Parts: sequence; structure tokens; C-alpha cells
Amino acid sequence: MKHFLIKHNDVCRRCKGEGSIMVKDEFTSEIKSIPCTLCGGSGLVSVTKDITITISPKPIKTIEK
Ligand SMILES: [Zn+2]
Repeated sequence: MKHFLIKHNDVCRRCKGEGSIMVKDEFTSEIKSIPCTLCGGSGLVSVTKDITITISPKPIKTIEK
């Protein structure tokens, strides 16, 4: 079994790298800009990929001809 942890920075998908998102105020119906909660306003997110690869022998009998 192989286990990989791959970390890299990516552009925030929620705000498209802007760092802020436009929201409509529930009460005043006013469009306002608030800091993106996903990236915290930086426009970038750290993505961690947790990959596990398991290789096991396949019995000869089950191999299709
Ligand atoms: Zn964001």
C-alpha cells in the first residue's frame, strides 16, 4: 500500500481568486462585498490530496481470456 499526501496552493473556487464575494443582504436587498470565508480573503487555498494506492495480486483463474 502506498500513501501520498500532496499539498499545493490553488486559486479559491468560491471567489475565483478575488478574495471577496458579492452577497445580497437578506434585509436590505443590498449587494455588498464580504471577505471570502473559504480562503479568508487571500484568494488562495491550500489543497491537500490524500491518496492511498493499494496493489494486490490478482489470482490467475479470474483473469479473463
Ligand atoms: Zn475565496
